[in-house]
Amino acid sequence: MKAEHADIAIVGAGPAGLSAARIAARAGARVALIDDNPRPGGQIWRQGPTLASAAPLREWLDDARRRPNLFVMNAAKVAAAPGDKRLLLERDGAPVVLGYSKLILATGARERLLPFEGWTLPGVSGAGGLQALVKGGMPVRGERVVVAGSGPLLLAVADTARRHGADVLAVIEQAPLARVARFVASLVRTPGKLAQAAALASALGVSRYRAESVVVKAHGGTRVEAVTIRTRGRDETIEADRIACGYGLVPNATLALALGCSIAEADGAIRVDDAQRTSLEDIYAAGECTGVGGMELASAEGALAAHAALGVSADARFERERDRWRAFARRVARAFELGPAARAMPSPDTLLCRCEDVPLGEVAAHADWRDAKLQTRCGMGPCQGRICGEAASIYFGWPRAVARPPFTPVRIDTLIAARDPAGPPHA
Ligand SMILES: Cc1cc2nc3c(=O)[nH]c(=O)nc-3n(C[C@H](O)[C@H](O)[C@H](O)COP(=O)(O)OP(=O)(O)OC[C@H]3O[C@@H](n4cnc5c(N)ncnc54)[C@H](O)[C@@H]3O)c2cc1C
Repeated sequence: MKAEHADIAIVGAGPAGLSAARIAARAGARVALIDDNPRPGGQIWRQGPTLASAAPLREWLDDARRRPNLFVMNAAKVAAAPGDKRLLLERDGAPVVLGYSKLILATGARERLLPFEGWTLPGVSGAGGLQALVKGGMPVRGERVVVAGSGPLLLAVADTARRHGADVLAVIEQAPLARVARFVASLVRTPGKLAQAAALASALGVSRYRAESVVVKAHGGTRVEAVTIRTRGRDETIEADRIACGYGLVPNATLALALGCSIAEADGAIRVDDAQRTSLEDIYAAGECTGVGGMELASAEGALAAHAALGVSADARFERERDRWRAFARRVARAFELGPAARAMPSPDTLLCRCEDVPLGEVAAHADWRDAKLQTRCGMGPCQGRICGEAASIYFGWPRAVARPPFTPVRIDTLIAARDPAGPPHA
């Protein structure tokens, strides 16, 4: 088992982690940047076999090559946080114990998936999920795609699918048109976003954008063949080869929860102060794990977290940027708040936990998440309730599920190392 040490360990190589790593490495700290993807970039700058790196990422990579004190650990999963400022990672199938003096959590967000009848059919995915799959090289050329759910990400996903040859039949947004229109008008305060939204909408064709609508059923035998969309109580079924449905993003606070950081009840985000310090000493957090707000906010927060971890004061422009993009994030949250149609429970026989095949009705019969888990096994599969726990919190108001180590499926060797991370993994 390899053991390593960093002055500053950063988990997550998206905009927040990259921004933090650059500042910390330029200041001379020994920095370890850990990410479970094969290449850095996070969600927005995800690299793929047929995808050139985005310009900001190329610039970051050029700079990183000149920093021998920056260790980029790709394809490294954080499996556990065994205490004493150590993380247990699995990399290339082998356990690595990484010690750190300061830790920056930049673990991003994950998609909120809400079940509907047929949502486990092949061809149904999250909206961001489809984005990641297409960026990763999955072909969609010639496919009829319906993008659904809520939030600005839907247009970006539709655009990616369209540019890769898909026929995007419709973008189904649960928020009412008036709220979406107010949000679009507010984009004059962020002209770059306004231009981006205008370009995406015109490339898609505004007639394909349907507000106040939700997906209620995916039809098909061995894979999806059609989708039923409900608009203000009226149902329409259209033929489709693929449905990508995601109801916005939720902060990924799995590691923070395991470490014992304080978490906001309202949105599950890691609580941070003005310097991006968490409730625990020497642990900082930045980006969407502290609240969903997009790439610009994540970058500014990453810069502030790095300065705090280095113990130096940050340029005031980072705070100004953060405040500006936090205001934008609040406008997004207001505009795309989930309405009653999106929150409505599907039929009791719809699967809630797709890892363990547990229908919604069985879970609903229990008083709380723990009881439901013990009696039905929901949330006990590989995703550890990251998907169904979030849906259960929407439907039943239950507190979000806390994952136990290992946070992701890992090899037995790694688990043995977790029992004794300071010693050899096995005899
Ligand atoms: C599926 C998905 C697709 C998205 N696509 C887009 C898009 O196309 N355009 C857009 O504008 N926005 C997109 N977003 C929104 C995007 O999250 C933000 O705009 C931005 O990338 C946030 O930056 P971040 O640094 O906070 O997090 P991220 O970019 O999400 O980076 C966090 C990184 O941490 C890694 N990580 C998390 N936990 C661990 C762990 N335990 N061990 C190791 N690594 C870990 C993740 O794999 C990820 O690479 C997407 C979000 C999601 C969830």
